[in-house]
Order: sequence, then C-alpha cells, then structure tokens
Amino acid sequence: DLLGAVLAASDAPVLLAPAMNQAMWRDARTQKNVTTVLDSGIRFIGPDSGSQACGDTGPGRMSEPTQIAAAAAELFDTGSLNGRHVVITAGPTREPIDPVRYLSNASSGKMGFAIAQAAIDAGAKVTLISGPVHLTTPDRVERIDVVTAEDMLNASRNAAKHCDVFIACAAVADFRPRSIATEKIKKTPNSDDVPNIELIRNPDILATITSEFPTLYSVGFAAETNNVIEFARDKRTRKGLAMIVANDVSRQDVGFNADENEATLITDNTEHFISKCSKAQLARQLVAQIAGALHGN
Ligand code: C5P
Repeated sequence: DLLGAVLAASDAPVLLAPAMNQAMWRDARTQKNVTTVLDSGIRFIGPDSGSQACGDTGPGRMSEPTQIAAAAAELFDTGSLNGRHVVITAGPTREPIDPVRYLSNASSGKMGFAIAQAAIDAGAKVTLISGPVHLTTPDRVERIDVVTAEDMLNASRNAAKHCDVFIACAAVADFRPRSIATEKIKKTPNSDDVPNIELIRNPDILATITSEFPTLYSVGFAAETNNVIEFARDKRTRKGLAMIVANDVSRQDVGFNADENEATLITDNTEHFISKCSKAQLARQLVAQIAGALHGN
C-alpha cells in the first residue's frame, strides 16, 4: 500500500478528497473511519453531493478540482501577509458611449481574482476593486464593483488610505468618450454617415495612487508584445513602482483571458522569472515575492 506508507512516513499536511458511491460514504464503518482520520489531524475537502458516475445521487461526489486546489493551497498558508492590507484592481473598465454601448476590452479578471485569493491565503486583509467580470469573489475578500476608470480611481483612492500594498491588475480603458449620449445613438436612414465619438484620456490609476501614496508597496503589470522586459523596466521606473510583473501578451497560451500565465517580476534590484503555470500558482509566487520584499528579504 504505497499511499498508506507515504502518509505514515510524512510530516506534510494531508488533505483528503473523498470520492465514492453514496451508500459507501453513508456506511457506518466509513463514517467511523472519517472520524478517526479527522482526529489524527488530516483534513477533508468534500465530498460534495449530487449525481455520481454509477448513476446514484447523493453524498460522496468528489469536490470540484478547483475547490480541491484552493483547499490544498490553504494548507500552505504562510501568514506572510498577516496584518497587511492589500488592495487589488482587476478586470476591464467599461466606458459608456450611450445608454446601451460602451468601450471596453477582453480582460477576464482571472489574474486579479487569483491574486486576491493568494493574498487572503497569506493572511492579508484584501479589498478587490473589480470592473465587470463573471467571477466568484474569493471567501473573506471585500469586493467593490466599479464600471468606469473614474469609478475605479475613486474606489482605489479610498481604499489606498488604509492599505500597505496596491496591486494594479486591471486592464483600464486608456480612453473614454468625452461625452455620453443621453439617448441611444441612431443610424441615419439611407445614409452612410457614422457618428464621430471624441475620445479623451482616462486617468492612470496606478500612477496616481503611487504618487499620492508614496509609502505604499505598489505593483503594476506590463502587458507587452515585444521587448517585454525592457519596456517593463522602463514602465516600472516611469510609474514609480516597487515591482512590475512583465507579461508577454503576444502569446495565445498565457496572459490575457487564458488560465495560465508566465511572467518576470522586476524590482529595482531583482528580476525573478516565473515559468508557465496556472494563474493561481503565479499569484502565490507573486504574493510570496511581495511578502519577502516587505520583510526586507
Ligand atoms: O501603461 P500601461 O497600461 O501599460 O500600464 C499597465 C499597468 O498600469 C497595469 O498595472 C494597469 O493596471 C495600470 N493602469 C492603471 N490605469 C490606467 C492604465 C494602466 O492603473 N489608466
């Protein structure tokens, strides 16, 4: 019994994710064993209840893999951000043109939400300022929903007053229409006319927060398609950041909207490459690096 032997020989934290038929799970002997295992300090994730591979319905269904991964990550909670408050911006912003149209981008928010989860797991208090996304808020994270870049800046200013770390992960729209039409803009019948929408620049949230709150540990993202590291180094200095996360967005398999990412974390005296991994893993490594920097390592 290889698994039993490894468990007996290891001091590592153990998490069990049961998966069995509902009658097996309900069986008194199974439940007695569950109590014994819990008493020995081993933790469980699940089981869930629902339809089973054998055709039965009931308890014993394996938890979703993402829930198992999150529960496993919690076992590695380092407490490295205990007592710290981390503010994260995530997702796209949406800049209205008229009551039914807007300018936006394809940011999913996944990276920012993964960082929120990793920061919570490291013991931080976390405020997540999110543009419109379809993601579930990680447990214990305070989420503030915003729509436009201006809303996001206001929410960031409020939250930054009380925080230690500001991580700008949002894909903020760089421009917005100068004015928002109060009624839906109509096509002119029998004409090829198109409306002229005048754009103006949106505020740079990260640069604003960094200059208004210079003692914050501020982290930005540099999504580049070429000269990735060089542009990122330059952006870090220009925006006055403690750290920048350099991302190659010319690739389909990582970055924007993908589930995986690859990045180089750049500070004034370090460059740390993180090879392709899930956004959750990258987030944990990023949080570990930030915690290390805060502790002076
Ligand atoms: O200048 P660029 O958009 O490439 O910078 C990217 C970084 O700056 C990201 O961290 C992004 O969240 C932040 N940013 C911002 N407000 C903007 C534009 C970018 O906070 N208007």
